[in-house]
Amino acid sequence: MRLLIMGPPGAGKGTQAARIAGYCNVPHISTGDIFRAAIKADTELGMKLKGYLDAGQLVPDAVTIEVIKERLKEPDCIRGFLLDGFPRTIPQAEALDRMLVDLGVRLSAVLNIAVSPEALLQRLTGRRICRKCGTPYHVVFNPPAVPGVCDRCGGELYQRSDDTEETVKERLEVYTKQTAPLLEYYRKQRLLKEINGELDIEDVWKEIQGVLRGLC
Ligand code: ADP
Ligand code: ADP
Ligand code: ZN
Repeated sequence: MRLLIMGPPGAGKGTQAARIAGYCNVPHISTGDIFRAAIKADTELGMKLKGYLDAGQLVPDAVTIEVIKERLKEPDCIRGFLLDGFPRTIPQAEALDRMLVDLGVRLSAVLNIAVSPEALLQRLTGRRICRKCGTPYHVVFNPPAVPGVCDRCGGELYQRSDDTEETVKERLEVYTKQTAPLLEYYRKQRLLKEINGELDIEDVWKEIQGVLRGLC
């Protein structure tokens, strides 16, 4: 299975992607996670990226495309993959199409998680992430059993520096201008599957499972 999961910031992509990756036995590849890991490791790439993430702006296409190109060459991608947060611009989607041609494969589907802007702001400002394993939580909608501690690995939860009200607003604008046009791109290719992301986490997952069953 080769899948994309799309949707505005805070739609629940990461939350659902972890489940999909387990269910389909494919690697979950998130450009946001890769960029945050590079920043944390203080690599040369990380230092270049930090300014973009903190401002809520997109990392330049050339850098992002190169990162995904290298990742898709890893042997675990032979059995398929789930891309989360890539592509985010038309040039990235076109570059992905070329990579797929080179690999001799096609996408199975593009899942679009749709959520209203009001709900997104609430979700993002209440989001907490595990420092160790990256699992997302929410202080109200999906709290861990012990406040501040990851259920999965015991890691410490933190708030992303770009999950502030001001940066969230910028990210939502960037999404509308640069990423939303991709929906039409994939609709034309008849790959787009709409998911109602307003439901609670379990019900969104049920909708996604319904789509995945139709693809197997
Ligand atoms: P994305 O990867 O799309 O930015 P996340 O999966 O990190 O989104 O989810 C954003 C926030 O919203 C997290 O705090 C998460 O716990 C919460 N969340 C995810 N799905 C739902 C949902 N269906 N209902 C309510 N809150 C949700
Ligand atoms: P969200 O949970 O808001 O969907 P991500 O973790 O996917 O956020 O991305 C966080 C930040 O990383 C983005 O605001 C952007 O700066 C950068 N980023 C992630 N993916 C891409 C991409 N495909 N192209 C450019 N920038 C990206
Ligand atoms: Zn954890």
